[in-house]
Parts: sequence; structure tokens; C-alpha cells
Amino acid sequence: MPIVKTEISTMTQTHLSELVLANHILVNEGVLDGFGHVSVRDPHDPHLFHIARSMAPALVTLEDLVVCNLEGEVVSPAGGRTYVERFIHSEIYKSRPDVHSVVHSHSPAVIPFGVTGARLRPICHMSGFLGAQVPVYEIRDAIGETSDLLIRNQMLGQSLAQSLGQSMVVLMRGHGSVVVGSSIKQSVFRAIYTENNARLQMQAAPLGEINFLTDAEAQATSEMNDLHLDRPWEMWHKRVLKAG
Ligand code: MN
Repeated sequence: MPIVKTEISTMTQTHLSELVLANHILVNEGVLDGFGHVSVRDPHDPHLFHIARSMAPALVTLEDLVVCNLEGEVVSPAGGRTYVERFIHSEIYKSRPDVHSVVHSHSPAVIPFGVTGARLRPICHMSGFLGAQVPVYEIRDAIGETSDLLIRNQMLGQSLAQSLGQSMVVLMRGHGSVVVGSSIKQSVFRAIYTENNARLQMQAAPLGEINFLTDAEAQATSEMNDLHLDRPWEMWHKRVLKAG
């Protein structure tokens, strides 16, 4: 049954407002630009998620959000459309019940780690969620060398979800990354600090061998940061308001 606007619960309404704000924060913090997208799983029906129609994230409003099912079809509004790469979201929600928000971006500092042997690893306590090291998705393994690198269908979405495995971040060779979280605030936090970590790692590399966080340190710092997701969110929110 199509969702009627007046029937949307308060809980869903909060998620949708956060989703709009997440679009603006991620642009403001240099993760999204004219491209990329963020979504949230529906709080009442795990087989649905919310995402903007195909448009620049900076311009997204509540009216631009659509509801998608896990086959990647827009179910509301009728005839609505969304991003070509919606299958990134649908297939990850299908394979990871713990994930409630997904960010796909082309954030620039991450790209070098997808195209070289250098692996993205947690360099400081803000990015413990990266785990031991971040997997890299190679689309050629799924469909050979002639693709446009976009996740255009369910098969490619599945193969990307497989590369992600149980990680919180997967890099996409020559394209970007996907970051997941159990909430919008967590996926936004992780997307911003994934970009930060990549920048710091590139700055540290020429100075000498990097002393990365151990697995145990990565886990402990990540658990600590999860207790304080509201603090940076409020600041990023303020910056959005200031930017106008
Ligand atoms: Mn993309």
C-alpha cells in the first residue's frame, strides 16, 4: 500500500528530517558534491528505505524524498524515480540487517586508496570503525572491463555488498566508497571521518612508517565514539545553517 503523507509516523518524520539534513551536512563537510547519496532504512518496515530522487544532495528537501523497496523499485510516490546507483543501498540493506543508513560518495581523498596497493587503515582514534583494513571492490571481477563503473543493477549491488562483508566501509576502485551505520548520525560520522582518515594517511605516509591502531584499539575507540554522535552532528548542523 502506498504511504500517504498524513499517515507518516513521528518516528519516520524524524528520520526523514535527519535524512534531509544528512544530505546538506555531507555536502558542507566535503563528502558529497553534485553526486553521491545517503539513505535510511524505514523504522517500521525493514524492506523499505528512504532516499532522495535523482538530484544534487545540497538541494534536497522533504518533498524530494522517495520510498524504495529492496528490489530497488520506487514504491512511493507512484511513478517516482531515484538514482541509477540505488542498488548500492537496496542490496546492502538486504544483506546487512544491522545497517540502517548508507552513504555512497566520491569523496576525493579516498580515491587513491582504491587504485593503488596502499590500504586504508585507521590512523587515529576517530576512525576506529575502519577496522583492521578497508576492503576494495573491483567491478571488473563482476562484469569485466567495459563497465562505466556504476552499480547499475542488482547483480552489481550484490557483488558490492559481498565485498563490504561485515565491514563498515568499502572502497570502489576508481569511483568512491560506501559507508554504513546503524543510524543516520553514525553513517554521516563515519563518512566524514573516512575522508579525514584518508587525508591524514596520505600526509603521514611520506614521513615514515605509520603506526596504525591495532584491531583492539580500533574497536575500543569506535565504541567510545558511538556514545558521542550527537556532539559533532549538532556542530555540523550549525555549519549548515550558517552556510545558508
Ligand atoms: Mn557513484
